[in-house]
Amino acid sequence: MSTLRHSVALMGATGSIGTQTLDVLRREVESFELVSIAGGEQLSELAAIAREFQVARVGVISEEHRNALADLLGPSTEIVVGPEGLAELSRDADIIVNAVMGFAGLPVTLTALESGKRLALANKESLVAAAPLVAKVRATPGSSLVPIDSEHCAIHQCLASSPASPGYPDVSRLLLTASGGPFRGWSKDELLHAQKSDALVHPTWSMGSKITIDSSTLMNKGLEVMEASALFGIEVGRVEVVVHPQSVVHSMVEYVDGSVLAQLSKPDMRLPIAYCLGLPERLGHGWGRLDFSQPIELNFEAPDRAAFPALDLAYEAARLGGAAPAWLSAANEVAVAAFLDDRIGWVDIVAIVATVLDGYEPDPLNSLDDLMANDALARQRAHDILHK
Ligand code: NAD
Ligand code: MG
Repeated sequence: MSTLRHSVALMGATGSIGTQTLDVLRREVESFELVSIAGGEQLSELAAIAREFQVARVGVISEEHRNALADLLGPSTEIVVGPEGLAELSRDADIIVNAVMGFAGLPVTLTALESGKRLALANKESLVAAAPLVAKVRATPGSSLVPIDSEHCAIHQCLASSPASPGYPDVSRLLLTASGGPFRGWSKDELLHAQKSDALVHPTWSMGSKITIDSSTLMNKGLEVMEASALFGIEVGRVEVVVHPQSVVHSMVEYVDGSVLAQLSKPDMRLPIAYCLGLPERLGHGWGRLDFSQPIELNFEAPDRAAFPALDLAYEAARLGGAAPAWLSAANEVAVAAFLDDRIGWVDIVAIVATVLDGYEPDPLNSLDDLMANDALARQRAHDILHK
């Protein structure tokens, strides 16, 4: 990106992906200008970022936060509020980074694409829940959707060697790698005693708490199966999960002739973030290199689907289609929040999602109103189970 300077809006700026995006922007000041940021509860961090990058506009979640932030920043920074504010900021820049956690990231995904922007997407929940709606807005001229999620970013890089024909008929399988999380190798019985402190320690990645718990249940990989299907237009029957504990191979594409392409690197999210910002160029700073002069161990194994039922649940939701993935993701958000709040045990997370999905009432998901109603209903069902 030597010649052009691109504007960037970063939603979820204070989180794990957000702060790593800021790291990339600090190294690439010649190429990018951060113009807008948004975040949730961490107001002093948000103010510090606004000051450092001298952004013009900041999004917060409530009027209360607006007032508190205005006191910190003074009148020169415009502050916008709530989902409408997020949507407004998503029209602000050439590149919109969606690093918000959960379904709350939906306005960013839809508005950025509708506005013909490049959407660099970390927020998989919005794509999974709203896949049919996202498919429509992706047709907006000028818009593009590039995945920050490391597996999908790997596949994006592998597929660059394929003719971009719809549905990729020369691809036999997408192979999503999974570290297996902190409970890899645990039996079903052992998992009954899984503790929050164990679940919050990921073996290879340091991430926000919700995705860390999702990685421990493999729900994260389940969401990623649907994410891959939606991103690349490849049905979930051609998306498989492979456990690869080292997190060096970030995912693979197998072609009909048996040839397999893979993308390898050190596990560092700044690499996929920089890839999404820099496209079609590669940003030269780099984030560490693999040392091939030393032995590198790469192991692969099948996931334990009985011990980690979230994976099969996600395939089921994908096959049901319509609003089923939105139900799964919404119920999961409620259950993970309850687990993080010490209100339920680890095995209850996926049990609650399964019960909610069992009660799914088919809906083809034709509109945003439909999606909001489905999201609210699935959350209500999950809360009902919690309060029983
Ligand atoms: P995080 O919890 O560290 O950060 C979330 C960010 O979203 C914070 O800035 C928070 O303030 C903000 N936020 C929350 N609710 C908001 C709202 N209503 N409006 C505006 N901002 C809001 O989470 P994370 O680990 O950075 O993950 C963010 C997204 O990226 C998730 O969808 C996750 O699945 C995805 N992702 C993360 C990683 C990773 O390595 N952390 C990897 C792949 C994908
Ligand atoms: Mg991932």
